[in-house]
Formats: sequence, C-alpha cells, structure tokens
Amino acid sequence: MISVEGLTKRYGDVPAVEDVSFHCAPGTVTGFLGPNGAGKSTTMRMICGLTPPSSGTATVQGVPYGRIANPGRHVGVLLDAAAQHAGRTGRETLALTAMLTGVGRDRAGAMLDLVGLSGRPARRRVAGYSLGMRQRLGIAQALVGDPSVLILDEPANGLDPEGIFWMRGLLRDFADRGGTVLLSSHLLREVEAVADRFVVIAGGRIAARGTKEELLAAP
Ligand code: ADP
Ligand code: ADP
Repeated sequence: MISVEGLTKRYGDVPAVEDVSFHCAPGTVTGFLGPNGAGKSTTMRMICGLTPPSSGTATVQGVPYGRIANPGRHVGVLLDAAAQHAGRTGRETLALTAMLTGVGRDRAGAMLDLVGLSGRPARRRVAGYSLGMRQRLGIAQALVGDPSVLILDEPANGLDPEGIFWMRGLLRDFADRGGTVLLSSHLLREVEAVADRFVVIAGGRIAARGTKEELLAAP
C-alpha cells in the first residue's frame, strides 16, 4: 500500500509537484503517466524519502519510508542507475545489494536468473551494459529483498519490445501475488497492458486518475 496526500515540492518559488494525492492498493499495478518534466520522479523520490516534500505526506505500508526498518525487505525501488557502480560486474552489484538488504547470495543468483542476466552478462562490468541491461539489473536489485511494494521510475526506458513484454509478465505476477506496484512512464503504450489503474500527472498536478475505461470516459 502506498498513500500520497497533498504532496508538494517547490524549488524556489517554482512548484515541481503540487498537491498530489493518490493511493496504490495491494494486488494492483498503478501506472504513473505524464510527459517528461511532469513531476513523476520528484513524486517518487518524495515517496522514497530521497527528496523532502515542501508539504504533504507519503507513506508506504502505513509509515513514512524513512521510518521503515530495513526498507529493502519491504520496498523495492528503481529510481535511476545511481545504485549501480560502473566498475562492478552485474553479479558483484547484486551481491552487494543482497548483503546490504540482509538476504543471502543465493537470492542474488536467483534474481540474476529471473531478469535474464545470469551467466556471461553477470560477469561483465556494468560499464559495458546497455540501458536495457541496467534496467534489468535494477529490477533484480529492487526484487532481491523480496519486497511487497515496488516503486519503479521509467523501468521500460531502454528495454526492447521483448524486454517490455517480459517486464509486464513479471509485474503482473508480482501484483497477482498481492504486491503493490507504482510504475512510471511517459509512454502510455509501455504501461497500458500491465497497469490496472492510472494516475496522470502534468505540470506537477494530477490531471486524471482511474482505470483505462474511466480515463477514456472522462469528459
Ligand atoms: P480518499 O477519499 O481516500 O481521500 P482521495 O481523495 O485520495 O481518496 O481520492 C479521491 C478519489 O480518487 C477516490 O475515489 C479514490 O478512490 C480515487 N483514487 C485515489 N487514488 C487513486 C488511484 N491510484 N487510481 C485511481 N483512483 C484513485
Ligand atoms: P518527470 O520525472 O516527470 O520527468 P521530474 O520530477 O524529474 O519530472 O521534474 C519535475 C519538474 O521539477 C521539472 O520541471 C524539473 O525541471 C524540476 N526539478 C526536478 N528536480 C529539480 C531540482 N533538483 N531542482 C530544480 N528543479 C527540479
């Protein structure tokens, strides 16, 4: 469960996000849609406690992210490639994330398998990875702690059509087992097949929300 109430972020006088409220329920994938610069990343960073809000609140499983003990065991986050050091191999990257999250190395190996990076790719340095491979590694990092909530910022960026199809199956499966997913994209076609509900943001404000049918029926 993710709850966002009246989240606002101003840089100087300029609002990047203004009075944004929405919920993401267990068992659902929420597509967070909006053009570049709309405020998606800022909202997600506030949910994850990386950007302090000017006002408003965000909770994950009922508490602010910063107050979750061992957040990696509850919330899987893919915000950008910042958690990947270019000089490390894929396997080293995931082993480190697993260690920091407090799960075993076997779990790291299983996640490499799950995202299709086991074998040769896992032994290569991240510096030589394509963007799609880095996204797959990021998804593995997000999943390694066996979380019940996933917050993914533009994970389809850099994935080829086959990769987008694969991610769709993975997220559907995660939600069908009771997980909560918040998934951002600037492209409807990347998320429309997997998301149950949509929150549309433009110019820092919520422009629309609901199921695809509700959005299409809106005046
Ligand atoms: P609440 O009544 O819990 O304060 P909000 O004011 O946040 O709810 O939301 C108003 C309406 O928008 C409600 O009908 C709620 O179900 C709906 N809503 C909230 N979050 C979402 C979402 N992620 N997707 C679709 N609809 C939503
Ligand atoms: P999106 O993720 O939808 O592309 P962002 O959340 O990255 O949008 O950005 C929303 C707005 O906030 C943009 O106008 C962006 O330029 C501005 N912004 C984001 N981060 C900062 C920052 N650190 N300082 C100033 N402005 C920022």
